[in-house]
Amino acid sequence: MKIGFIGLGNMGGPMAANLAKAGHDVTGFDTADVEIEGVTMVSGAAEAATGKDVVITMLPNGDILKKVAEEIIPAMEAGAVHLDCSTVDVDSARAVAEKARAAGLSALDAPVSGGVGGAQGGTLTFMVGGDEAGFEKAKPLFDIMGRKAVHCGPSGNGQAAKICNNMILGATMIVTCEAFALADRLGLDRQAMFDVVSTSSGSSWSMNTYCPAPGIGPESPSDNDYTPGFAADLMLKDLRLAMQAAEGADADTPVGETAMKLYERFVEAEDGKGKDFSAMLPRFEKRHRGA
Ligand code: NAD
Repeated sequence: MKIGFIGLGNMGGPMAANLAKAGHDVTGFDTADVEIEGVTMVSGAAEAATGKDVVITMLPNGDILKKVAEEIIPAMEAGAVHLDCSTVDVDSARAVAEKARAAGLSALDAPVSGGVGGAQGGTLTFMVGGDEAGFEKAKPLFDIMGRKAVHCGPSGNGQAAKICNNMILGATMIVTCEAFALADRLGLDRQAMFDVVSTSSGSSWSMNTYCPAPGIGPESPSDNDYTPGFAADLMLKDLRLAMQAAEGADADTPVGETAMKLYERFVEAEDGKGKDFSAMLPRFEKRHRGA
């Protein structure tokens, strides 16, 4: 396929490289000066989108996505697919998809889970909103860039799935960290705590796969001085998107709200910026009740 790829950062770069390695003809554009193996770089978004079967965007936020969409939609031919893999707010995703559809394009919002490691290894999970025909057309690309693609329904539903998943993840990580810090103070050995919880009803991905306690469970960012991994800043971004969506949908999300406020404090007022989101454990270790 002829693919345009816009936004070749930490995630987009390796995703585009994997598509090129698999034999697709990939043209890239990024406002930063980047070079990606196998990708022909051009100097504008419209140029990257012209004459392509699929145009992929992997951008920082909804405002940038909307700006880029204004340039690429008129440049694309009817029947082509705009595949947005960025994590953005549900409203921006739906607005961009509406404009693409009005221009005769297929529009998919397909945010990812799996992080930079998943992008490099081609093992991402895609949560996809949009029309069935577009999903089928993009499927071979999902198979190269990822391990799994779930069609979640109409436009915006991919973003909805992503923020609901990450709201669960953020809240679960926080409570896993506070439970470890509580266990420490009760004199419960961390390994014993892991052995019990990871095989009991308190088990979760945060405990079993991404354990925030160094030296316990499988290798995770806690074993590497909390170098991300999945940065606390990005978790904060996703929790903010979840709370924005909850407000728009009039949904009661008290635990999600608390998780957002804790990550906000951690990233903006404490020392969480640039650390993995599991670094909440050393944060709780240092704190006292009500502090
Ligand atoms: P990044 O900042 O590394 O990459 C974004 C790229 O977009 C940069 O190279 C930037 O120069 C480029 N860009 C910005 N404005 C542009 C424009 N107008 N035109 C063209 N290019 C432009 O970010 P990332 O880590 O690659 O994340 C991309 C998206 O993926 C975000 O929405 C993020 O929330 C999501 N995401 C990231 C991770 C992760 O672990 N990094 C995991 C899941 C989802």
